[in-house]
Amino acid sequence: MIYLKTEEEIELMRIANHVVGKTLAEIGRAIAPGVSTVSLDNLADTFIRDHGGIPLFKGYRGFPASICVSVNENVVHGLPGEYRLKEGDIVSVDCGVKINGYCGDSAYTFCVGEVKPEVKQLLKTTKDALYEGISCAVEGKRIGDVSYAIQKHCEERGYSVVRELVGHGIGRMMHEDPEVPNYGKRGYGPLLKKGMCIAIEPMINMGSRNVRFEKDGWTVSTRDKKPSAHFEHTVAIRNGEADILSTFDYIEEK
Ligand code: MG
Ligand code: MG
Repeated sequence: MIYLKTEEEIELMRIANHVVGKTLAEIGRAIAPGVSTVSLDNLADTFIRDHGGIPLFKGYRGFPASICVSVNENVVHGLPGEYRLKEGDIVSVDCGVKINGYCGDSAYTFCVGEVKPEVKQLLKTTKDALYEGISCAVEGKRIGDVSYAIQKHCEERGYSVVRELVGHGIGRMMHEDPEVPNYGKRGYGPLLKKGMCIAIEPMINMGSRNVRFEKDGWTVSTRDKKPSAHFEHTVAIRNGEADILSTFDYIEEK
C-alpha cells in the first residue's frame, strides 16, 4: 500500500528532515581522529531531542542507538560503540527523526581527516548517483527508472551496487511501500505519483557487491573488506522535478 501525502504532510516531513540534516551536520563537526562512535550517537540523541524530535532508529526492531555509524567496510546499520575513528577512515552516518508524527531519513558518508583519493572518488560517485536517481524521481516515471539511473552511474565507473538493502517509501512510518532498489530496469516497478515520498539511498562498494551480516545482529559489511559508501535523501514526488525534503546544506556549508 503506497500512501500519497498531502502538501501539509509533505511540509511536516520537511521539518523532520531538516532536523535530520542539522543532526548530521552536528555529527560532521564532531568527527575527528580519536572520537568514539558511541560519542557521536550520544551527541545525535541529545541534539534530536533538543530540537523536538524522536530518534527514529532507537528501539526499531530493538536497535539500541539513535544513529547508525558504519566505518570503512561497514556498509550500513553499524552499531555505535567504543571504536575510535582514525585518520583516513570514512564513516557513514544514517539518521532518522520523527516530529509531529512524520519521519525524516537521510545519510551521509564523512571523511576522517585526509582520505585516499580513490576512496574520495567512491564517495563522490555514490553521492552523484543519489542525485542521478533523484533526477528520475518524478511523476510519470517508475521506481525502476530511479534504480537504473543509480546502478548505471556506479557500475559504469567500476563500483558495485549492494542488492540486499534498498530504499523505501516513508511518511508516518520510517519504512513504507514501495521498496526502492539501487539496481533495476528502466520502465519497471511502481509508477511514481505526485505525493509519493521515498527515501533513495545508494549503498555502493569499491570492490564486489557481496555483503556479510555481522554477528552483532546489525552491522552489514563488505565481504572483501573494501570500503562502502552510503548517501540518502528523502524526496517527495512532484511533476517535473523531485522535491528533496532532506538536505546536505547544513553539512556542506561549514
Ligand atoms: Mg536512513
Ligand atoms: Mg532509509
